[in-house]
Amino acid sequence: MTPLSHATMAAIMHIKSATFVRGVTNSENIIQDDLPQVVFIGRSNVGKSSLINTLTKQKKLARESSTAGRTQEINFFLINKSFYLVDLPGYGFAEGNHDKRDSIAERIGGYLFDSAINHYKIVLIIDTKVGMTNNDKAMFQELVNNHKDIVIVANKIDKLNQSEKQKNITAIKQFVGTCPVVPFSSLEHIGTGELTQAIFPK
Ligand code: GDP
Repeated sequence: MTPLSHATMAAIMHIKSATFVRGVTNSENIIQDDLPQVVFIGRSNVGKSSLINTLTKQKKLARESSTAGRTQEINFFLINKSFYLVDLPGYGFAEGNHDKRDSIAERIGGYLFDSAINHYKIVLIIDTKVGMTNNDKAMFQELVNNHKDIVIVANKIDKLNQSEKQKNITAIKQFVGTCPVVPFSSLEHIGTGELTQAIFPK
């Protein structure tokens, strides 16, 4: 894995530029250069687009699920010309449509488990109110089996009261063991600093 220089790390803490590079449905178009790729994944509606926009301080970098289409592509954004932020399609989408669901699952797996790609971190987003679904657990296990460096986001914590928050975050932590778990809310702007730190530890 390509190590990041101190200059890059410093730049990352302050997002100066974020540009959409490419939306990919075909594995041949996946970007494979020397820049590290920070990947965001979660089930549909988990709040992934909102989180990406909050984290990058861009209003509309990632499109929210109300605008379908782009949400089924693997989207590459170049941040500070130093790393890619990769927005994967939400899993569990198109539940009734097996062909579509299977092709999205294949697209996600083909990208995530291709050893030629320089994945720097995989950020797995969980809806804290819902807890880890079977799909979330299966995805986490697959990432562990493939030795990925994982950060878990316990998202939408604004929806929970203090005791629910503690109970549900503890349950997530028990499942993921030593992986960092970052409580987050785009709505209340909670967790951006901690998530940046977890992705790019000093
Ligand atoms: P995506 O499908 O994972 O990209 O999810 P979106 O970002 O489109 O969000 C899905 C829904 O969750 C939308 O209705 C958002 O307004 C809502 N949402 C996103 N983030 C948060 C959050 O931090 N708190 C709450 N309460 N709702 C959120």
